[in-house]
Amino acid sequence: MNRIELLPPEVVTKIAAGEVIERPASVVKELLENSVDAGASRIDVAIEGGGTELIQVVDDGTGIAAEDLPLAFATHATSKLRTVEDLFAIRTLGFRGEALASIGGVAQVLLQSRAAGVEIGAEIQCWGGQLSEVRPWNGAVGTRVEVRHLFYNVPVRKKFLKSVATEVGHICEAVIRLALACPHLHLTLRHNGKLIYDLPATVGIPERIGLFFGADVRDALYEVDSTAGPIRLWGYIADPRVDRGHARMQYLFLNGRWFRDRMITHALQEAYRGLLLSGRYPVAFLFLIVPPQQVDVNVHPTKAEVRFQDSSLIYSLIRSTIQRRLRQANLVPDWQWPD
Ligand code: ADP
Ligand code: MG
Repeated sequence: MNRIELLPPEVVTKIAAGEVIERPASVVKELLENSVDAGASRIDVAIEGGGTELIQVVDDGTGIAAEDLPLAFATHATSKLRTVEDLFAIRTLGFRGEALASIGGVAQVLLQSRAAGVEIGAEIQCWGGQLSEVRPWNGAVGTRVEVRHLFYNVPVRKKFLKSVATEVGHICEAVIRLALACPHLHLTLRHNGKLIYDLPATVGIPERIGLFFGADVRDALYEVDSTAGPIRLWGYIADPRVDRGHARMQYLFLNGRWFRDRMITHALQEAYRGLLLSGRYPVAFLFLIVPPQQVDVNVHPTKAEVRFQDSSLIYSLIRSTIQRRLRQANLVPDWQWPD
């Protein structure tokens, strides 16, 4: 047997990156979340070559102080979490301090930022985990990140990427999720110079639903809003007659962050029981507000899954709220579906 040894930092980063950065869309998601956490009101995303050649995200958020730039790329370095208690009361999208370190380990990153209130910004590069010196940068308040040659040093990961169209599709999905969670944001997405989305700031989620999924879906939405103790469920469900084929058009958000949950998918399916053709799924955009102490968001590297303290309460809140709403719309007869 070999002796046990600590792994060199560049290996640790690559292992962590393997979990957090699966494909170009993961980079887009992480950078978007950082911009939202920085209080941005506008974010412009530009990608080239499906994101493998270039991912550029520009925001008008609070920016990063020049002396903090190298730390942004350090693993477990974050401005969003200080104590163990904070971990159980997360209010930001990020908190693990892993994204930039991971991206910087598997790509060539240029980070440019100017903090509010300072005259001149600063920039730093991180190539395969190696940091450059910090140089002055003459740009507007906010942050600009350029990620080039993603996975240039991880050939296996690069090999498993799908076609440009598929990767762009995943990136669009990341933008859609964030756009639904943050309607107040002005968001744009370009691919190879061509504008894919230009989403002006809005107050209404239905407006964005219409832009992404068509006016027929938007015009067939029912609003739901209900509470169970401190837990609130609100959002929109579509009339079961809206037929999206076999696509599962369901978006779930917990405290402003997109997530997936099979239990909730099941609750939805149950609420629509008898109303859908077989092989069809309910169309729903649901927002759950749960006190941070009652949910663990730290169970998955990309936070795509969560663990509720009382999942049966969530299940019945969703099922009964939606059933009631469908009944109000005269879609469900007044008797209960047998279980
Ligand atoms: P996390 O988001 O979990 O804190 P990241 O690696 O994504 O970790 O980012 C590290 C730190 O860099 C953040 O905590 C934040 O202070 C800073 N940062 C990253 N992106 C931005 C941005 N767009 N605007 C302002 N600060 C940023
Ligand atoms: Mg982050």
